[in-house]
Amino acid sequence: VILQHLSSDFADCVECCNFGGVKKSIKICVAAVIVSVAACSGRTAATSDDSVSIERGTFDADSAFAYVARQTAMGPRFSGMPGHEECRRWLVGELSRHGADTVMEQHAVADGYGPMVNIMARFNVAAERRILLMAHWDTRPWADNDADAANRRLPIDGANDGGSGVAVLLEIARQLGTEPPSTGVDILLVDAEDSGSQDDDSSWARGTQYWVAHQPYQASGRPGFGILLDMVGGRDAKFHHEYFSRQYAPAVVDRVWAIAGAIGHADRFVNRMGGGVNDDHIHVNAAGIPCIDIIECAHPATGSFNPTWHTLDDNLDNIDRATLKAVGETVMTVIRNAK
Ligand SMILES: [Zn+2]
Repeated sequence: VILQHLSSDFADCVECCNFGGVKKSIKICVAAVIVSVAACSGRTAATSDDSVSIERGTFDADSAFAYVARQTAMGPRFSGMPGHEECRRWLVGELSRHGADTVMEQHAVADGYGPMVNIMARFNVAAERRILLMAHWDTRPWADNDADAANRRLPIDGANDGGSGVAVLLEIARQLGTEPPSTGVDILLVDAEDSGSQDDDSSWARGTQYWVAHQPYQASGRPGFGILLDMVGGRDAKFHHEYFSRQYAPAVVDRVWAIAGAIGHADRFVNRMGGGVNDDHIHVNAAGIPCIDIIECAHPATGSFNPTWHTLDDNLDNIDRATLKAVGETVMTVIRNAK
C-alpha cells in the first residue's frame, strides 16, 4: 500500500470543516486531512443498540500469531519465489481444512509482477446476506523504506504487511469451521498488491483489480459490504478511520468501530480520521461493494504507517498478539452479529 494523494477529496474536507489550509504536498495534504477532520468530526462510538445485543466473537490470538510465523518461515512470498508457491498451496490447504464450502483459485499474469493467484474461500455459500473479508498474501520484494540504504533491494519478511491480515483471516476461517456463521462469509486473499511504485497508482493492488474485473458473483449473491485487513499486527497499533473508507463506506466504518468499542477495544479502534491509503479496498468500492480498510494509518512516529513498513524490521519480532486479538475479535463479532 501507499499513502494516496488526496487533492480532489481534500477540497470537500476543506469545505465541510472550514479548514483554511492550502495543499502543498502529499504529506502536508494528508496531515491536514488528519488534523482537520479529527478536529471537527467528533464521532461517538457505540449506540445503545450495539451494546445491549452484542455477542462477542471468539478469536485465538496465539493461533493467529502462529499463522504469521508459518508464513514468514516460508521466506519472501512474491511471484517467482519458492515461498510464493509454497504459501499458495498452504493457504488453499488451510482454507479447505477449515471447512470452506468452496476454495477457488484465480490464476493470471499481472503486469510488472508475473504469475499471480487470488484465492477465495466461501463459507455458508447458500446464504444471500454475505460479508467479504480481504487481505493481500504477497509480500513486497524490496525493503525500499529501510533506513539503511544497503538493505533497500532486499525482500521483506512481510510479517505485518501481508502476513498479519492473512493470519487473522485464517484464524477466522478456523473459527467459522468450528461454528458455522449464520451469514455468508467470503474470504479473499489477493496476490500482487505490494509490488507497486510511487509513480503509478495503478501498479498497486493488481490482484484485486483482476478480481474485480472477473468477480465470481451473480447479481443477487454479492456481499453487502467488505472489510480489508492490512498491517493489523503492529506493536501497540491503533486503527483510525482510513480516509477512503470513510468516504465510500461510512456506515461500515461506524458499525465496525462501534463494535470494537462495545467489546473493549476502543483503545485500539480510535474514532478519528487517519490518512488516506491506496489499497485493495479502493477497487472493491469502485466495483460497488462498500469496503473499508482496517490499517494502521496514523502512527505517532510517522504520521502514517507503522515504522516497520517496507523495511527489514517488518518481521515476526515486531508482531503484537494483542493487536491481532483486537482486530480478530472485532471482525469475528461483526460476523456473529451481522443482520
Ligand atoms: Zn506494503
